[in-house]
Amino acid sequence: MATNRTFTMIKPDAFGAGNTGAILKMIQEAGFKIVAMKATKLSADLAGKFYEVHKERPFYNDLVSFMSSGPIVAAILEKDNAVEDFRKLIGATNPAEAAEGTIRNMFAKSIDANAVHGSDSDENAEIEGNFFFSQAERV
Ligand code: ATP
Ligand code: MG
Repeated sequence: MATNRTFTMIKPDAFGAGNTGAILKMIQEAGFKIVAMKATKLSADLAGKFYEVHKERPFYNDLVSFMSSGPIVAAILEKDNAVEDFRKLIGATNPAEAAEGTIRNMFAKSIDANAVHGSDSDENAEIEGNFFFSQAERV
């Protein structure tokens, strides 16, 4: 059921600010079911692999060091139209452009420290979920 699933991370800024519970509440109230979830800390090596698609972008090194700077929560979420609906719930990459009521509008501080990740396609949701979770770790 890959098309009904997406993958998210609560990034180090939001985790460190103690916003994990509030963000998970918004996610659940928006109708997403948690299929797998863990708190973890990425090494620079793992963060680099996760964001490998952005390797050539000017912000890649900053992104990797930010994502490995502190604990995160990783989760697989399930809902009809999960990928698109979750991108709507989190809002634009730059919180200055994120719509009112979105997670990034409420919790993100900057384009780097933007509180949450959301997969951008069904294919990437599958890849990213598999990056963090074995089958045995999913409900
Ligand atoms: P994410 O993949 O984290 O959900 P996104 O899909 O909205 O975010 P991407 O284009 O995939 O945005 O970029 C990945 C991350 O890289 C962004 O969340 C942001 O933290 C960082 N980033 C993207 N564009 C820039 C930029 N122009 N300057 C600085 N950081 C950026
Ligand atoms: Mg992205």
